[in-house]
Amino acid sequence: MNVTYSCELIRDLLPLYKDEVCSQESRRAVEEHIADCSVCAGLLSRLGDGAIEETIEKEKGEVISRQAKFFRRKSAFVGAVVAAIFMLPILVCLIVDLASGAGLSWFFIVLASLLVAASLIIVPLMVSENRWLWTITAFTASLLILLAVCCIYTGGRWYFVAATASLFGLAAVFLPFVVRARPVAGRLGENKGVKVMLTDTGLFILMMVCIGLYVRSALYWSIALAVSLPLMILAWVIFALIRFPRYNGLIKAGTCCAVVGIFGFFTGPAIDVLMGRPAGIPAFSPFIWNAFTIDGNVVWAVLIAGILAGAVLAIIGLIKEGRKTK
Ligand SMILES: [Zn+2]
Repeated sequence: MNVTYSCELIRDLLPLYKDEVCSQESRRAVEEHIADCSVCAGLLSRLGDGAIEETIEKEKGEVISRQAKFFRRKSAFVGAVVAAIFMLPILVCLIVDLASGAGLSWFFIVLASLLVAASLIIVPLMVSENRWLWTITAFTASLLILLAVCCIYTGGRWYFVAATASLFGLAAVFLPFVVRARPVAGRLGENKGVKVMLTDTGLFILMMVCIGLYVRSALYWSIALAVSLPLMILAWVIFALIRFPRYNGLIKAGTCCAVVGIFGFFTGPAIDVLMGRPAGIPAFSPFIWNAFTIDGNVVWAVLIAGILAGAVLAIIGLIKEGRKTK
């Protein structure tokens, strides 16, 4: 039996032939065909070198990117529609504000507050890469603008207090995530945690200074320093305890517990010293609880509980560490 098969049919069989999973008859057909057909023989010899797999991978990539582009365009379109809807109240307010003869007074407040809303709705729709990074940046910027407009409109002088407080709050929550986002992470290099802590500390000090300039009271600075300094030191100590040593989580949690207990105990006296008041170790009278003893008893209880809980956690951690090294 000598049947000639078309090249197309043989090419369908080639992968099966290569993997040696085709029938005897198909096998013979392929061999007879490639003896005469150099094109199919060439295809067979290239089957194993990954050329085909490469083509399939490439086509897969193209399909995925086409799909992604489609969705990007679609969400950008929705974003544009939402932005257009946002323009309506802006236009209405502009007309009413002008018509009422007040000049462009509260129009800018409406404009700025819509800007805040737009930053949270339109930016995520329009941006395709690093979406939430752009959103949080746009939100922060529009919030600062809104605060400025409100402050100017009401004739207040509280802008820098509100702005630095907002910045500090947003940074404390979002900065750890922002530094890990791709475009930021590449430029920041090593020790991102330290840089976040430095930024937070800087913003905190800036906020406290702005509040001080706002309240204009000589008493403020000593109180602010006395309260802030122990807090900042505690934040840095906890950060350093978690970031730098190579213990396991339980030992770290234990040390943090103990540190918080000890800090709680000495913060009161430290504030007294910083404010120039007579300082002393609080009295401990565990069996007498009344208005005079309660403060001292509580700080002692926090100290003891912190150290005990810390010790228990650290011991469990050490036992686990010991088992691992065995
Ligand atoms: Zn052929």
